[in-house]
Amino acid sequence: NTFAEIDLGELLNQNIRRCKYVKPTPVQRHAIPIILGGRDLMACAQTGSGKTAAFCFPIISGIMREQYVQRPRVARMIYPLALILSPTRELSCQIHDEAKKFSYQTGVKVVVAYGGAPINQQLRELERGVDILVATPGRLVDLLERARVSLQMIRYLALDEADRMLDMGFEPQIRKIVEQMDMPDRGMRQTMLFSATFPREIQRLASDFLSKYIFLAV
Ligand code: AMP
Repeated sequence: NTFAEIDLGELLNQNIRRCKYVKPTPVQRHAIPIILGGRDLMACAQTGSGKTAAFCFPIISGIMREQYVQRPRVARMIYPLALILSPTRELSCQIHDEAKKFSYQTGVKVVVAYGGAPINQQLRELERGVDILVATPGRLVDLLERARVSLQMIRYLALDEADRMLDMGFEPQIRKIVEQMDMPDRGMRQTMLFSATFPREIQRLASDFLSKYIFLAV
């Protein structure tokens, strides 16, 4: 019933303590071991449930082992290893802030990209290196269309507030994004879908994007 009992590694555990998290919330207690165990996950979780940490901790822990993998050398192309999609600039910035605290001193680099702000500044940030990219769907499609970001190396995909993303009309963008990950060998990718509600459209996304997933409702 403590984070220390979950196998996240000492460095991450230190950061968790620094954030004053003592006890995992229910979604964290259940989701983190599932993701660490390599399974895809569809989780029904509300805002305030602690879902951000539930997907960030295992992603950071996994990326700490993988951040030194050789990435392709293609001129000016950026290769993140994990992607967190969220519906709004506010939520993306919140996730980015938390993920940065959680990854303090781990060497894992987290960068955020959202619409409504100059893309060149975000590109300069991305060029300095990115392991975990937090993005809104529209801005990411823009980066993909400019051929500046490649999703070929993505190991972890988290869709946060998926129902809100669909309500905002992002389904075409999300499908376009996920299609780009399906090219080389999709066996490498682990996918997590978080949503407050589970209507038919979300069930369809889950069955299209996840493989043999575990369903978690807390
Ligand atoms: P979220 O649902 O991810 O937006 O998290 C809601 C709030 O709870 C955020 O302010 C988190 O920093 C905080 N929080 C998440 N997990 C824990 C935890 N295990 N212990 C204490 N606070 C937490």
